Amino acid sequence: MTLYLNDITAPEPSPERLAADHAAIDALLDGGELQSALAEWDRQRREYATWAALAQLRFQQDTQDEAAKALRERADELGPVATGHEIAIKRRFLDSADRAGLEAAVTRQVVRLWEADVTTFDPSIAARLAEENKLTAAYTELTAAARLKIGGQEVNLSGLQPFAENLDRDTRREAAQAEWQFFQQNGEELDGIYDRLVKLRTSMARDLGYENFIELGYKRMRRTDYNSADVARYRDEILGTVVPLLSRLMERRRRSEGWETLYAWDEPLIDPKGNPAPLGDHDTLVAAGQEMFDRMDGRLGIFFKLMNEGGFLDLKTRPSKAPGGFCDVFPTVGMPVIFANFNGTYQDISVFTHEMGHALQCYESRNSGSFDTIWPTTEACEIHSMSLEMLSYPHMGLLVGDDAVERFQRMHLEAFLTLLVDCALGDHFQHEVYANPDATPAERHAMFRKLERRYMPWRNYGDIAYAEMGATWQRVLHYFLIPFYYIDYALACCCALQFWVAARHDPREALERYLALCARGGSASFLELLKSTALASPFEPGVLAGVVKEAEAMLG
Ligand code: ZN
Repeated sequence: MTLYLNDITAPEPSPERLAADHAAIDALLDGGELQSALAEWDRQRREYATWAALAQLRFQQDTQDEAAKALRERADELGPVATGHEIAIKRRFLDSADRAGLEAAVTRQVVRLWEADVTTFDPSIAARLAEENKLTAAYTELTAAARLKIGGQEVNLSGLQPFAENLDRDTRREAAQAEWQFFQQNGEELDGIYDRLVKLRTSMARDLGYENFIELGYKRMRRTDYNSADVARYRDEILGTVVPLLSRLMERRRRSEGWETLYAWDEPLIDPKGNPAPLGDHDTLVAAGQEMFDRMDGRLGIFFKLMNEGGFLDLKTRPSKAPGGFCDVFPTVGMPVIFANFNGTYQDISVFTHEMGHALQCYESRNSGSFDTIWPTTEACEIHSMSLEMLSYPHMGLLVGDDAVERFQRMHLEAFLTLLVDCALGDHFQHEVYANPDATPAERHAMFRKLERRYMPWRNYGDIAYAEMGATWQRVLHYFLIPFYYIDYALACCCALQFWVAARHDPREALERYLALCARGGSASFLELLKSTALASPFEPGVLAGVVKEAEAMLG
């Protein structure tokens, strides 16, 4: 029987209900019933998470719908209350004398996650967490409401992409101007939102006993087996290997086009013949996607059919839909949903295969353990998504046409290299921002531009003064919504490139190894998952350089 998205429901919780649920767990623990307490708590968390996921999804689907907005506001208010109960329950489990028994019951990894979680919350910061939710929602609403005029049309930020990568240089420039005009007009408001977020996060960190937000940010990301020094070394590897390669590729582009200068608005046009785009619109792409997954593996085909027929794909662009793409899960039923904004460019394909990778993973691991292991930590999650982008290369003809397959792969590979650099830059920027929380917005812009010159020495904004001043970071929702997430893409990219290299030698073996990683879900930490999948750690010196060399060989 097909399960439909519209059939999924979960009761709306109230503060009283959450308190009663908490009391029920305490009563079970008072009676020494550890297993029953864990089982009941798992059930409660799945129900709450399903309700919260539905609330967020409805808002993202239509940011102007008053009922959806009100529901999301209630969810944002309730979030910190639920977190308060959750942390208290985790503390109680952790304080239980029988540590070995707890590890045996929930796995060592889950205990480590809880140990990180309990350091991120205290009831005294609950109101500030609710305020943080409001500020991040304000960023989403503001960017979702962008209406840009170009080519006689009115588009949102996602709809601008076909113009931004247009073959015609003037059109690309016009798209860049339209985008920057929006950011300049809203610049003060965006600076204000970010400034309040930085100060709010810093004040919570200090009250929790941290020097600044950086370490708290890592704990929030549940990073249990590496720290900011490891990440800094990885950024240096990117600086040393990827930046010089991309500089050469940019220079090659400039010369082959005969341009005196390669401007920022020329960068989105990666393929000189025009970036290969999907063969058709949404329906064509979804049908081709079905064929592609059927060919890759029967298990993938069956899963995609479930997603499509059940209404778990929301990929079309609509005027008031939130920008971006994501995958979420409804833990009561174990079904994921994917969300995107198709715009007719190659990004539709990347977003589609990317989010399907996330969806596949949480579906594969839905029965593998507890609520805590549905997903691994996010850098591991991004391996599932980014690897599927690359493992689907051999079937790309279905989506872009057989004659464009090689061009698509080259373009996609170059886009991945750019992403590595962009993530290192963004991560470095955030470390500076949170190490200097009292910096003014103008100082933050200067910090960013200085780093941008180092990580993207080719970047030239021409006469777009607002971008030249250092405002490019305002376009990245991760900096506002989930601090320190951005480097996860760069860590995962190194692993996805390893799958790509392996698949060129033995596609079947690589896919089996990939699916095994998906099924392992969040049962282990990032580095443990890599080890069990025979992937080398990006933190090991030379690993990144090895895969980048393979990419360079393909790019010529
Ligand atoms: Zn992702």
